[in-house]
Amino acid sequence: MKYIGAHVSASGGIGNAILNAEAIGANAFALFTRNQKTWTSKPLTVDEIHTFQLLLNDRGFDPAYVLPHDSYLINLGNPNEENLLKSRNAFLDEMTRCQQLGLRLLNFHPGSHLKLISEEACLDQIAQEINRALDQTQNVVAVIENTAGQGTNLGYKFSQIARIISGINDKSRVGVCIDTCHTFAAGYDISNEMGYNFTFDEFEQEIGFQYLRAIHLNDCKKECGTRVDRHETLGNGFIGKEFFTRFMHDSRFDNMPIILETPDPSIWAQEIQWLRSL
Ligand SMILES: [Zn+2]
Ligand SMILES: [Zn+2]
Repeated sequence: MKYIGAHVSASGGIGNAILNAEAIGANAFALFTRNQKTWTSKPLTVDEIHTFQLLLNDRGFDPAYVLPHDSYLINLGNPNEENLLKSRNAFLDEMTRCQQLGLRLLNFHPGSHLKLISEEACLDQIAQEINRALDQTQNVVAVIENTAGQGTNLGYKFSQIARIISGINDKSRVGVCIDTCHTFAAGYDISNEMGYNFTFDEFEQEIGFQYLRAIHLNDCKKECGTRVDRHETLGNGFIGKEFFTRFMHDSRFDNMPIILETPDPSIWAQEIQWLRSL
């Protein structure tokens, strides 16, 4: 079964994310559990946690299909010691919040080398930082998202993600989120059947589907290989409708959160309905 939703707003309180997901006919959703634009955030109160869990259950959502996303400020690959410390603390807080809420996944972008260290050194540092956060938390899986490769962002090649995973001590608590826009922008042409097969064969060889925990389902405003991250409404971009039909019939993407991050929230309900009709 496919569990589909969107990255919904949690403004006014994290419980609102549940209501916003329900309103678009979703059976999965993504959210920020704290302000994504600041380094620090008030801890969750016992009351907030309790309300979130009650509402989640009341509206029929399974926590397994909720995919929190961490702050965009966090860069676990930051070569600068002082800045790395900020990212380390914020990442631990993000993981801790997920654990407190009874959620099992935390989705994040691996990190950037900022042209100060080699790609390899940066990937190995990211793995060490993930290990550090896993050691201090329980149950939550660190879900690495592939990137478009903008600027000095790593994780745009499956082999880079594989290198991070190889450095993780507890492999049961690391996973991968494939963002379809990022995949395409990074140079994997999933728009046609041959490219689709080639891409997911490579994913299987380099990483393995056993690590796949979530999908960000987006079309792409830019052409394949541009390494520019611009999401587009499903079917309106360079990935195109054919891909989404193929994707919906592919059982390798069953039973994991499938999250839209497409640009127009007012049509998320329609986009979800369209996917289910395929
Ligand atoms: Zn994404
Ligand atoms: Zn993106």
